[in-house]
Amino acid sequence: KDGKRGRSMRVAVIRDSSGGSERTYVMVKPDGVQRGLVGEIISRFERKGFVLKGLKLWQTPEELAQNHYFELKEKPFYPKLVKYIISGPVVCMAWEGPGVVASARKLIGVTNPLQAEPGTIRGDFGIEVGRNVVHGSDSPENGEREIALWFKDSELVEWEQCITPWLRE
Ligand code: ADP
Repeated sequence: KDGKRGRSMRVAVIRDSSGGSERTYVMVKPDGVQRGLVGEIISRFERKGFVLKGLKLWQTPEELAQNHYFELKEKPFYPKLVKYIISGPVVCMAWEGPGVVASARKLIGVTNPLQAEPGTIRGDFGIEVGRNVVHGSDSPENGEREIALWFKDSELVEWEQCITPWLRE
């Protein structure tokens, strides 16, 4: 019991000392992978200054796709959405930094790529809502939920980024 408490305190301290504990789940969807946009998308988050804490390419099991989008279960497009997400490999990412959830949503752009601003990922690279290239969590709670859903603990890396003092006072 004590061990457990000790471990969670240590995590809290590490996160606090980095000054930004917020994390988000970002995913390059199958269309983004097929179109060769993986590097471009990772690069936008890297250059912004967020810290990559997890990264993998894999083929999503159907049950996981269903679970990820459970809130949309009643929507008419839900079956097509699940089919789309499992139609090819995806790239899963966990990003960390202050305000990363809202900032990632801004970098990604609104759901419909035709309405997304130029300069955003969807605004630059998409034309249809059913092929909108990338996913980003919509709240810090969902960020944590989705990171836990898509990554094993052992796939997430705690590391110090040496450029942090050049990004943050
Ligand atoms: P976001 O991904 O921007 O958070 P939502 O959570 O509303 O948007 O929807 C999840 C995903 O479902 C979207 O990214 C998109 O791929 C798909 N989607 C949403 N609305 C539609 C729609 N009307 N038709 C087809 N697919 C949709």
